[in-house]
Amino acid sequence: MSLRKDEAIVLSKRAYGESDRIIHLFTLNAGKVSAIAKGAGKSQKRFMNTLEPFNHVKVEYFEKQGRGMVRIENADLVSGNSGIETSMKRMCSASFFTEFVDRMTREREPYNGLFLALKEFISFARSKDPAYADILHYELMMLDILGYHPNFDTCVFCGTVINDEEKIYFSRERGGVLCTVCSRSLPHRRWSPGLMQGFLAVKKFETGFETRSLEREAQELMEGFITYHVDLDFKSYKLLKTMVF
Ligand SMILES: [Zn+2]
Repeated sequence: MSLRKDEAIVLSKRAYGESDRIIHLFTLNAGKVSAIAKGAGKSQKRFMNTLEPFNHVKVEYFEKQGRGMVRIENADLVSGNSGIETSMKRMCSASFFTEFVDRMTREREPYNGLFLALKEFISFARSKDPAYADILHYELMMLDILGYHPNFDTCVFCGTVINDEEKIYFSRERGGVLCTVCSRSLPHRRWSPGLMQGFLAVKKFETGFETRSLEREAQELMEGFITYHVDLDFKSYKLLKTMVF
C-alpha cells in the first residue's frame, strides 16, 4: 500500500453500502481512478461535502501496486461546484463533459491536457451559461487531446490544403474534409459553405457560427462523427441537447 497525493476532478459519486461512496476521480497525474470513500455517507464531516461531482480537490489516497480501487484518505477542496446548480444549461453541460471524460478514458491513463480542459470548462460553467459554440469548443479540444479530432483543413484522402470556399465535402468515415477531386470518387456529404470555417473559428474560440442553421448543421455533423468514431451513447448528451441546443 502506498499513499499518493494528487489533484482531481470528481466525475461521479454513488452510494456503496450504507455509509461508503464510490467516487470516480479524474486525477492530474494518474488519469481516472475509482475510489472508495469510507464513511462518506454516514458522517458528512468526514469529507465535508468535498467529494461532490464537478469539485476540484486535492486528494490523498492509498493504492495497492497501482491496481484496483483506491481508498481516499483525505480530500481538500480547491474549488467547488457552486454556480453550476444555478441553471440546467450549466448542470447538463458539466454532466456531459464529466461523462465524456469518464467514458472516453481508461483507468490510470494520464492525460494532463484533458484534466486542464475539464477544469477550465467547469470553471466556465460556474460563472456563465454555455452556448453551443462554447460546448463545441471544449468538445473539439478534448477530442483533439484524445486523438479523435476531425480534420477541417486538409483533404483527408490526398492531403491537399483546401481553399475555404471549397471546404464543403466531409467524409464521416475518414473523419474530415475532402477536396473537390477526391469528393468525386469517395463517399461524403455536402455541407453548407461556411460550416468548416465556423468549426475552425469555434476551435480558436473566436466566434460562433454565423447563422442558427449553420449551428444546427455543425451539431448534426458532430453527432454523426461521434457515433461513427467513438460509438458511445452519452446519456447526458440527450438532456444537453434539449436544454441547450
Ligand atoms: Zn483530395
